[in-house]
Amino acid sequence: MSKVRDFLVGILKRSYRQPEKIALEKWAEANIWLDNKESIDSPGPYKKTQSIYAPRLLDLFMNDPQWRTLLVMKSSQSGFTLHCLILICRKIAEIFTSIIYVIDSKPKAEDLSTKRLQPMIKSCKALLLNAVASIDAKLQTLTYELPNAIIRLAGSGSAGQVSSYPADIVFGDELDKWLKAAREAHKWLLLIQRIKKSENGKAIGFSTPTTEDGITSLEFNAGSQHRYFVPCPFCQWKQLVDLDHMVFSHCKDDNGTYDLNRVLRETYMKCEAEACGGRIEEDHKPDMFDAGEWKPTNFKEVEVDGQKQLIPAWEPGAMSAHISDFYSVHSKSTWGIIVCEFLQAQGSADKLHNWNNGRAGIPNKKTVANIQMKHVLRLRGNYKRGSIPVMPCVATLQVDNQGDHQKWVSIGWMPNGTRYVIDYGITINRAEIKDVARRAIKTPEREIMIQKGIMDEGGKDGTSYEVRRFCHDLYPHFVPAKGRGGIQVKNTIFFSDSKLAKGGDESIPVCHFDDDAFKRELYIDLIKKHDAEKSKELNLPRLWLPMDIDEDFVREVCGEELVKEIDSNGVEAYVWKPKPPNDYGDCIKMGGVLWNVIAHKFNPSGF
Ligand SMILES: [Zn+2]
Repeated sequence: MSKVRDFLVGILKRSYRQPEKIALEKWAEANIWLDNKESIDSPGPYKKTQSIYAPRLLDLFMNDPQWRTLLVMKSSQSGFTLHCLILICRKIAEIFTSIIYVIDSKPKAEDLSTKRLQPMIKSCKALLLNAVASIDAKLQTLTYELPNAIIRLAGSGSAGQVSSYPADIVFGDELDKWLKAAREAHKWLLLIQRIKKSENGKAIGFSTPTTEDGITSLEFNAGSQHRYFVPCPFCQWKQLVDLDHMVFSHCKDDNGTYDLNRVLRETYMKCEAEACGGRIEEDHKPDMFDAGEWKPTNFKEVEVDGQKQLIPAWEPGAMSAHISDFYSVHSKSTWGIIVCEFLQAQGSADKLHNWNNGRAGIPNKKTVANIQMKHVLRLRGNYKRGSIPVMPCVATLQVDNQGDHQKWVSIGWMPNGTRYVIDYGITINRAEIKDVARRAIKTPEREIMIQKGIMDEGGKDGTSYEVRRFCHDLYPHFVPAKGRGGIQVKNTIFFSDSKLAKGGDESIPVCHFDDDAFKRELYIDLIKKHDAEKSKELNLPRLWLPMDIDEDFVREVCGEELVKEIDSNGVEAYVWKPKPPNDYGDCIKMGGVLWNVIAHKFNPSGF
């Protein structure tokens, strides 16, 4: 045993002398073995082609004492967890160290420990040299007390407990999913506080972002905002790889609709240098990414003696970095696949949010929205109420209950989710709604009728049963619906089997929807951020209104705004504030809900 220890100490001393000389990717090539769970494509010795940007960022951060914390805002398959585990192996092999690794839940901490970190430690060559048996016995599920290292893993529920131990490096994984009590500081901030007080400690947090007010996005914005610049294979100009650099608008058929098979095959990256404009293909990725370089981008402009200068705008010691799946060399993440997913996500708030977070590694915006009349008026098209200038794939009726009356809006839909408001009005009893549904609608080809309807259950004065009964008579053409606040809603839309009468046997499916998600889709995506050129170019869904809408209608579509509020504890929150009446806005919003339920019938290929 003492011989083993002497041997181990010898190795430690030897490597401790120049721990920073070898790049992490080189060290990994010499020491790390990836099993088939870790690398499905190519199990075996670590090869540097896999997410090359990750070890380079870790080197840049670990080797420069100016950086104390690193926050990586990333897409879901970025290889950062893998490279942090490799870094842990290296620290165990090279230096006396204590490490804390916190991930969102305890089961995930256990999984990460037993299925990923332990197998990697056991097969790590730098550690194999000594005595695997002696290490093996010391690998408890969440704590390893090794001769020269103490590793503690924990779920975020226990982050408070592990933060009382000293640590040279603290890792925080999946930060945006950590358990967090309302009005309490995020536990990652507590862990960082300890590191900032210690002399040489480092903290590495990484996560897929969720929303702009999540910890990942906030900490990313406060840091250096390093991004990975890669040289064009033709002119060597260094640039970012993102959606803006992708070319796919040529992949449309005669109707201007995207041909997804062509997008899949023909998407390429165009060099941003005007003189070059080179066509960069998938095959260029490995060499181009290998030649890449991390650079900070968070600067602010100041004036010194009348001269404009850029100076760092980040908090001292705070490195942050962003990486997306556009930098992936994985066969399931080609540029064509990622762009196809982007196009297929259009028109679905839920899918688009997932694409932003998981693929692009960017948070969803919670912009303060103040809808003004000018925003609504610019959506008018060259057609009159009661008609539609194109042949829609389906026409729907949306009804908002207001106790003694109902307001309704009819909409015609294009396969990509573009919606034309056809007409709107007021009825004083629900029976009249049937007459509205039977009105003929003029199209360029022939007259059409409403095919589907959705009716809000109301809430205040117990109209639910009446609405369900009304929809039941017309089922499956009409569905009752109920909006819920964002926090308690897990899915954007789900159906419940609900009774037609109190205590009765008969039931009908009721559509429950995430009210915040569909308000964002309507008021922010379709109205506030409307860009006629962009939606035409990319064939994105948009909202059209008849030219002869009146002032009441316009006011009711402006009738809801998203405002930032700060509560008595200083916590910021975004809240939708109605500026009643907003009934026509509610109707168009419900159209989005109904479209999410029926769209698959009209765009079977996803478009
Ligand atoms: Zn170029």
